[in-house]
Amino acid sequence: MSFPEDFAWGASSSSYQVEGCAFSDGKGLGVWDIFCKRPGVILNDDTGDVSADHYHKWAEDIELMKQMNLKAYRFSTSWPRVLPNGTGKVNQAGLDFYSKLIDGLLEAGIEPYITLFHWDYPFELYCRGGWLNNASPDWFAEYTGVMVDALSDRVKYWMTMNEANVVIGQGHTQGISAPGIQLSTPELVRVLRNMLLAHGKGMQVIRANAKQPVQAGSAPGMGVGIPATDSPEDIEAAKEYMFETSSPANGFGTPWWYDPALLGRWPESAREFELPGCEMTDEDLKTICQPADFLGMNCYFGRHVRRGENGKPEVLPRDQGYDCTMKGWVIMPEVLDWGVKFAYDRYKLPIIVTENGMANADIVSADGKVHDPQRIEYLKRYLSSLGKAIDDGIPVKGYMQWTILDNFEWRFGYRERFGLIYVDYQTGKRIVKDSAEWYSKVIETNGASLND
Ligand code: BGC
Repeated sequence: MSFPEDFAWGASSSSYQVEGCAFSDGKGLGVWDIFCKRPGVILNDDTGDVSADHYHKWAEDIELMKQMNLKAYRFSTSWPRVLPNGTGKVNQAGLDFYSKLIDGLLEAGIEPYITLFHWDYPFELYCRGGWLNNASPDWFAEYTGVMVDALSDRVKYWMTMNEANVVIGQGHTQGISAPGIQLSTPELVRVLRNMLLAHGKGMQVIRANAKQPVQAGSAPGMGVGIPATDSPEDIEAAKEYMFETSSPANGFGTPWWYDPALLGRWPESAREFELPGCEMTDEDLKTICQPADFLGMNCYFGRHVRRGENGKPEVLPRDQGYDCTMKGWVIMPEVLDWGVKFAYDRYKLPIIVTENGMANADIVSADGKVHDPQRIEYLKRYLSSLGKAIDDGIPVKGYMQWTILDNFEWRFGYRERFGLIYVDYQTGKRIVKDSAEWYSKVIETNGASLND
């Protein structure tokens, strides 16, 4: 297994999930601040009010990242922290926070990767219709301009959005995540269109205003088709499944994001979701489709697929009692091999795995340490699978483990721990887990220790 010399070994986080400091230092309200106040929607009524308190403990966290040999840290900036009303007045304290964080990372030799929108949406804009409002792409462009202006002298890697599909599916369709609403299909088409336009405009702003040459893209979630056998028929069927147009119920799917954004076309069967007045136009595509420097993909699991008797991809039922993480997500390392191969085949861009990792029920042992052999096993298998794709010639530039710190896992609150670093939420104390030590060895040897 040979990872490229400059491979970005990293870890990810997102603003609402780690920062805390939800109601002070000039931050405006976000949709999650409000959603968490609805009784019963979050396990144990947990909130991100304090979470891992990364807002105050960032310097300590960078020190731990440095000890881990981390090369890259992907984090998101909080739109309501920087623009409390979503547009207009800037909260300087918010910008200063990100500025200090970036300086600290660079001093530690860690490359910052910014995601501009990871579900942390200004409540004030939601009250104006949120992503349904046709002005929303311009609101996002304004916010992007503020961030690029303040930070692009030091930040080279930019992502517009994280998993628009999940924001749409869970937040606007099922209503089980913020903002917690249930829209009709034509409305969802409008939301998707506006998020795509926001992406396109954001990319234009990044290109026009960056103070140095930058790399820009986005980070959608990708479900992967795994061929049930090595036969060419099943391989093709699995690929077709991965790019099949799926329904609004799951936030649309991969081709709904990347086909317009990168190929400049709507997925073939998109028209069936349109109603008069809510069409997706070719005119929109001119703004949405902007050249990207890399293909971000958040990738955790997939489905086994074979060529069915009717000629269509057939999804196989899951085995009973399959191995899974604490989220119930099936452990399927092959997604990183097949996923990057299929994605590269379709979009022809270098790939960064922007998220992958394991939820676990980690506990502090009597020796004061956190032993998480399952996570080590998980990472070893997934990274080896990614290494296989690299050996087979796919240009993969980086891997960002989800997540650096235990944090607020959305509607599951603090039950699940995804971090390389354990957080004691009562005291804020950090404990470096065994998996973090293991990962630092992988990084130090540029992947060679995966063969041990
Ligand atoms: C999201 C993260 C989330 C993780 C685990 C990803 O889909 O981007 O915010 O914590 O999955 O659920």
